[in-house]
Amino acid sequence: SFKALVLTEQDRKVSSSIETLDTDRLPEGEVLVRVSHSTLNYKDGMVLNGLGRLVRSYPHVPGVDFAGVVEHSSSPQWRAGDPVVLTGWRVGEQHWGGYAQYARVKADWLVRLPDGMTAERAMAIGTAGFTSMLAVMALERHGLAPGAGEVLVTGAAGGVGSVAVALLARLGHRVIASTGRPETHEYLAGLGAAGFIDRAELAQPVTKPLQAERWAGAVDSVGSTTLATLLTQLRYRASVAACGLAGGNDLPGTVIPFLLRGVNLLGIDSVLAPLPERQTAWSRLARELDPALIDGMIERIPLASLPDYANRILKGQVRGRVVVDVNG
Ligand code: NAP
Repeated sequence: SFKALVLTEQDRKVSSSIETLDTDRLPEGEVLVRVSHSTLNYKDGMVLNGLGRLVRSYPHVPGVDFAGVVEHSSSPQWRAGDPVVLTGWRVGEQHWGGYAQYARVKADWLVRLPDGMTAERAMAIGTAGFTSMLAVMALERHGLAPGAGEVLVTGAAGGVGSVAVALLARLGHRVIASTGRPETHEYLAGLGAAGFIDRAELAQPVTKPLQAERWAGAVDSVGSTTLATLLTQLRYRASVAACGLAGGNDLPGTVIPFLLRGVNLLGIDSVLAPLPERQTAWSRLARELDPALIDGMIERIPLASLPDYANRILKGQVRGRVVVDVNG
């Protein structure tokens, strides 16, 4: 038997408790993983609060990401003892997830933990950091190279933003961080941010279809007026990777930047990203992110603290990355 955070629903209200379960309660799948760490993403915050109709059936074990070791596999792809990481595939939403000491999943959903990366660091990266890597890879495919000029990261002090700042700076870009929390400037400078811009400045509604060209590229976690504004500020043929909607899911702008400046809006989806891209992303994260910087982003919590932290992440009060020690 093992410990899990279980969500139940009564009168349309979702509540959580820590329960002891037998492994035969786990859903079907080829691989049983002994989970050591999970994490808290914005989406986990929504799931823990029953928002967004992400979970369709209860009781449910949330946790979009996990890392651990294969305990048993009926697929030849994996052997007992293999260190693995899982992000996405609707695990923690439609399938039971990582807020438990065991998880059972499909063999194709797992990625081998790159050499030298610990389970804790993999979860400090998690879906948020994996998404940042996908965003950087997409910008590179569209021509972004170091020396091109300033690269903007919005929602910089959040999970996606923090890792994007660290990655881009490490790759040699001049990173400008947009945040609504000036108290995080020191933290962001430590990750490699070279300058700051107040998020309120970018969140103004678009009034002019084009503004002065500034950004050689951008990673956006915010959406809405912020994304619409940065489209008007991208340099000729530059790209923005749209990752999130922390500021809203609308896009109130015009198509003028596409037509007159040839800018690109690159959609980033981490959930169903294909396996080869996942493997590339994880091996780059292992090589290109300074482990000391990752460790500095971590706030460690036990399963029992998740409901509290879920509320905090929805309010934008979490700095960096929360790592859940499922045995803690
Ligand atoms: P997070 O840690 O909560 O970071 C979001 C950040 O956005 C906050 O830290 C805050 O940054 C900023 N923010 C919050 N509310 C805002 C508002 N009203 N207006 C402007 N900025 C605001 O969440 P995360 O895990 O990094 O996720 C960020 C976004 O990406 C979420 O929308 C999430 O759903 C999305 N996401 C998408 C994918 C994908 O596959 N596409 C994967 C992961 C996450 P500052 O305090 O620095 O301003």
